[in-house]
This record gives sequence, C-alpha cells and structure tokens, in this order.
Amino acid sequence: MTAQALLKDVFGFDAFRPGQGEIVDAVNDGQNVLAIMPTGGGKSLCFQLPALMRDGVTVVISPLIALMRDQVRALQALGVEAGALTSGNTPEETDQVWQALEERRLKLLYIAPERLGAGSAIGMLRRVGVSLIAVDEAHCVSQWGHDFRPDYLRIGELRRALDVPLAAFTATADAETRAEIVQKLFDGAEPRSFLRGFDRPNLHLAFGAKNQPRQQILGFAAARKGQSGIVYCGTRAKTETLAKALRDDGHSAIHYHGGMDADDRREAEQKFQREDGLIVVATVAFGMGVDKPDIRWVAHADLPKSIEAYYQEIGRAGRDGAPAETLTLFGPEDIRLRRSQIDESLAPPERRSADHARLNALLGLAEALECRRKTLLGYFGETPEKCGRCDLCDQPPDVFDGTTAVRKALSAILRTGESFGAGHLIDILLGTETEKVIARRHDQLQTFGVGKEYDRRQWQAVFRQMMGHDLIRPDPERHGALRMTDTALPILRDEAQISLRRDTIRAASRRPAIKT
Ligand code: ADP
Ligand code: ZN
Repeated sequence: MTAQALLKDVFGFDAFRPGQGEIVDAVNDGQNVLAIMPTGGGKSLCFQLPALMRDGVTVVISPLIALMRDQVRALQALGVEAGALTSGNTPEETDQVWQALEERRLKLLYIAPERLGAGSAIGMLRRVGVSLIAVDEAHCVSQWGHDFRPDYLRIGELRRALDVPLAAFTATADAETRAEIVQKLFDGAEPRSFLRGFDRPNLHLAFGAKNQPRQQILGFAAARKGQSGIVYCGTRAKTETLAKALRDDGHSAIHYHGGMDADDRREAEQKFQREDGLIVVATVAFGMGVDKPDIRWVAHADLPKSIEAYYQEIGRAGRDGAPAETLTLFGPEDIRLRRSQIDESLAPPERRSADHARLNALLGLAEALECRRKTLLGYFGETPEKCGRCDLCDQPPDVFDGTTAVRKALSAILRTGESFGAGHLIDILLGTETEKVIARRHDQLQTFGVGKEYDRRQWQAVFRQMMGHDLIRPDPERHGALRMTDTALPILRDEAQISLRRDTIRAASRRPAIKT
C-alpha cells in the first residue's frame, strides 16, 4: 500500500500535515533523517507510517514512559502490533513483548533509553530484525540542553550495532542542539534535515462567504487571467459545469475527478504540467502526483473537509516561492454537508469526534477575526506575528458584540424543540407569518418577531457564524434541523460574550438574496 493509502486506512487522516509527507518519503527511502517540527506538528506519524511499510520492527526511543504507553495503546487500537519496554511494565508484559519480538510479530517497539543499558538488550535487538530506529525528543542527547538524558548517549552505540537508518525528531531548533544531535546520534555524518516551519510566506490567504459562488470564482479567475490555477470543488458534477463556465469566460480550463478513467486523468495531469495558464477544476483526487512549481492560485469553490486538507490543497500553489493567491469559499451548506459526512461515516465514535474537531479548526479559521496565518499556524503549534499577507490583515474585520443576536437565535432554536432549520427559525425571528409558522403556532412564541433589527440575509450570516463557532450543529437524525451544542451554554446563560463579524453581515445584505 502507498503511504497515502495507509494514512487514510490505518490512521484515518485525509492529508499529511505540513512536512510529514516529505519526511515519510525520506525515511522510506532509507535515509538518515533529522526532523525539527513544532510540538503538535505530528511527529509520531513520520516514523509510525514508515514502520508499517517495511519488514521487521522499528525501535522507538522516547524519554516519557506515559507517552510511550499512550502511543502503544493508540496503535493497538488502530490494529497495529506495538509494544513497549519500560520500567512501568509488569514482568508478564515484558515477557509478552519479548515473545512477540521473537515471533517477529511487532511492527513498533517503544523502548526507554535506560533499557538500552540493561544487559543484553542491544544483542537481543540485533537478533530480531530491527529495520529502523526512531528517536523522539532527540534534543535529550544534548548535554547543554535542560532535558539532557545520559542514556540517550547509548543510542549512537545502538545505531552502530544494528547498522540501520535512524530518524530523529525534536521541536528544539537552535543550531547548537542540532549540531550536537548530528554528532551524538549520527557520528557526525549529516543526516537529511527537515527544518521547515509550517509557514508558506508567499501564499496570500483569504476566505469568502459564499454568496454567489460561481460569480465569486469567475471573478477571482478573471483577475488572474493567463495564470495556472486550481479550483477545488466538492462534487464531480461541479468540476464539469464550472470548467465550462470558465471556458465560456475565455479561460483555458479543464476538469478532473476520480470518476474519469485512468487515461483521461493522466492526460489532464500532463496537460496541466505542460501548459502555461491552464486552470484545472478538480475534486481532491487532483494533486497528489502534481508537481508544478508555478501554480499561481488555488481556489476552493467549496469548503475542504479539515484544516489539514485545506493546508495541503492551498500548499500546491507557489512552490517556486513567488507570490501566489488563495481563496476559500464557505457557506452554511458546506458546514452541513461536512458535518453529515462525518456523522454518516462508519468510523468509530472517537474518530468521528476527532474529525468534527478538525472541521471545527477549519471553521475557526474561516470565521477568524484576526490574521488567518496566526490562526492557521497556531493550530500547527507555531506562534507567529500578524502576517500582513491575508485578507484579514489587508482589511481588519469590523466586529460587534453579537451576544444578543446569538441569544435570540438560540432561544428560537430551543423554544421550537431544536427541530427546525435556519429558514424557519429566521421566519420566527423576523416575525414572518408563513403557513408553517401559523400551523405550528410559532407566532405565539416569545421569540416571534424579536429579530427585526436584521434582515434575512443578515440572520443567515449570524447562523453561519454560529455554526462556524460550533454553537449550533445540524441534527444528524433530522435533516436540516439545528441543535445547540454545549459550547453555546455560557452564551445562553450570559456568562460569555461573542464577537461577530459585521462585514460579512453587511456584505451579505448588499447582495441579492439567494436560495440556501
Ligand atoms: P507531536 O509532533 O507533538 O509529537 P503528535 O505526533 O502527537 O505530535 O501529533 C499531534 C496530533 O496531530 C495527534 O492528535 C495526531 O493524531 C494528529 N495528527 C498527526 N498527523 C495528522 C494528520 N496528517 N492529519 C490529522 N491529524 C494528524
Ligand atoms: Zn495575516
């Protein structure tokens, strides 16, 4: 299986996080690797995935017993044979691990560094077919660092004894520590190093509320005529209609999706690679094999499924380092669709809630009130200053205290039993006597007509932002119905306030109403 397929099948992730793909490739290629990644960046995957792709066992050295045990448990839950040798083991556990090793069943063996000194451990490991050594928190080998672990000095000995590639990981990036790691773990032979923050400074980041999606994409493309770009769409059908609309607008554009046969797909890829100024309108099936350095823009006609997927997709632009533009459109329908895709998946409950969390992270970015880059990189563990290269830095949004509006909307939801969609709820807030309102006697509610300060479009923007802040979610059981989440409780109880963006509300009201 390919790394990409394992990523999905075993770990349940749609896309690599920044840097992971390159590191996995280098490790798979048998190179010695030193990777410096921010905490939370997803280091573990960079050795766990290659471990599954090779014969023999991967030895993982980590200083933290609790963390090792967590990782082993997590791997076992994913169906991966993993074990740990630490001082926290019972004698039975240790016996079981050795037996699994002898039987060549283990894919990953976590081992505490002090174990490397214990009697014949190195000799035993030589016998059982180790194919890779992974070192977590590699800066612990640095005598000058505050995390120095004398036992880490034995790792060099282990590597020499086993004569297999070593992949070292740390979040500590200073030059002295790095030099010491190279000295102590690799005997001074320069490993392939990965020291890349997650920032892609040449990419301009922007999001837009979907008002007239086709016009918005056509407008974005028109301002970049003659440049190579990608438009990502949520459905196959849309790739075809949008590509046609772009052609009608005088662009050179083709579509691409997983439903096309292999030859047509290859042809489209080659055409894109070869030709200047071509636009590919595609589903996420497009991009894996594409390595075109001068893609000048990427637009999302629909919201991606997670913040990782977003980062990977916009990351295809501007590989040459020259400025490139991105635009991601999103609306309430996208949020509903993404939520229901997660709810309807057959994944176990923990994975579904993790998927909701990753979608929330993306929605948080979409509804961010300040610098997109700060929000995006913050998710990956970095803490940059405001960037000056995103739509929110270009034009800081006008925010207002939306607590009252949100409480009115929540009240409409709760008083109608969390059984209705935004359209009907807005009718109630506006005091519109529709047939449905009358039939359900919702004109008798205290909330009826309390929201006349906004028009329909403005309320739609409020509901969308509420979904973006995960205050409300569509009910997976009842199509379209909105339910309140626990996140909203403090606002409902008047214990917390919430800021909303006024600009999206204003912008919404200026445009003609569209059906949602
Ligand atoms: P660290 O770099 O701090 O060791 P971890 O390896 O523990 O980080 O990963 C941090 C979190 O990111 C974990 O919850 C992990 O499941 C998640 N994660 C790692 N890779 C991905 C990915 N490609 N897509 C989504 N989530 C990921
Ligand atoms: Zn910014």
